[in-house]
Amino acid sequence: MRINKPAILLVTMSLLGALLSGCGGANEAADAKSGTNSKQSQSQAVQPVSETFFIFDTIVNVKIYDNRATNQNLKEIEALLKDIDQKINRQLEGSEIYQVNENSGVAPVQVSRETYDLVAKAISYAKQSDGLFDPAIGKLVGLWNIGHEGAHVPEPEEIAEALKLCNYRKVELNEANHEIYLQEKGMVIDLGAIGKGYAADIIYDYLAGQGFSSAIIDLGGNVYAMGQKPGNQKWNIGIQDPDQERGNPIGTIKVEDKTVVTSGIYERFFIEDGKLYQHILDPRTGYPVDNGISSVTIVTKSSADADALSTTLFVLGIEDGLAFIENIPDTETLFITKDKKLYASSGFKEMLNKTNDSYEFAN
Ligand code: ADP
Ligand code: MG
Repeated sequence: MRINKPAILLVTMSLLGALLSGCGGANEAADAKSGTNSKQSQSQAVQPVSETFFIFDTIVNVKIYDNRATNQNLKEIEALLKDIDQKINRQLEGSEIYQVNENSGVAPVQVSRETYDLVAKAISYAKQSDGLFDPAIGKLVGLWNIGHEGAHVPEPEEIAEALKLCNYRKVELNEANHEIYLQEKGMVIDLGAIGKGYAADIIYDYLAGQGFSSAIIDLGGNVYAMGQKPGNQKWNIGIQDPDQERGNPIGTIKVEDKTVVTSGIYERFFIEDGKLYQHILDPRTGYPVDNGISSVTIVTKSSADADALSTTLFVLGIEDGLAFIENIPDTETLFITKDKKLYASSGFKEMLNKTNDSYEFAN
């Protein structure tokens, strides 16, 4: 039996959430929510200039809190998002990554410096995690197709075949010419685990370049809380309860000029024969990671790093993940498990204002 309805429902719900976000209720606890689409408190004096876009299968909402912001700024942000799509979307015919994939086993492809740097960053996380994070996992991602219509559990032989083509060690990077070469025919680069964070950083840099210093940039729960909220206050960011509908946090954190990024099993999934298959895959087995973790949240400065880290830590698991994050400065993490335990880095523990008693710290 194949049921894909929950995934479809989920997308519909998040779309609705985003459409409704212009009329956030007066009692909204948080300014934005990591791991879900945000609703904004409208009680601030400065009314944000705001727009919702749809890109990389994701609802993007940008709110600029500055009286000088105009619709022109929103148009320019939309153009930036389109440009990013043209560069890094593996499913968009003609995009730079599409061309790299098309030329796998054939020839190196020269890409823009930005695309090259992003792939190089993703590869560096692959090295640091000994391949548990792997941007060359596209063949497997395409096979499972999780979050899209028709997703089902592939045959073991198909998984074994796809796995042979997933290996970042076979990605050749030529720094001088910004060329990328996939050594085997059929290899596929997929930047789904880092692209949204990258886009958040690009929008942040654009806004900073325009002289703005207060904004919420939200790409489907991948949030950048830029600067301070009007009134010289910290932003309140909700941490999504993985077991509840979107918009229900387990608590909130106060941040200033930080990104808050969550990878969760509820983001994209399908259910087959009563079992949930979520979208972060284990490159050792070829199957979705099933390690008791519901979500991983990262708080830091660079959203691309936070995005890569949230996925990396998800695959690493709690113990190795907490050890991994300890060596990275100004970066905090929270794991939420299926049995409602919280494992936090010390800085995160201090930040979290937990409002849901059914969750307990386990470390
Ligand atoms: P979300 O898309 O919900 O923000 P993530 O940032 O965790 O979630 O990225 C998940 C996406 O990353 C998957 O949809 C897939 O495109 C890709 N991916 C899946 N498994 C891995 C992996 N082990 N390493 C790198 N990328 C992966
Ligand atoms: Mg990620």
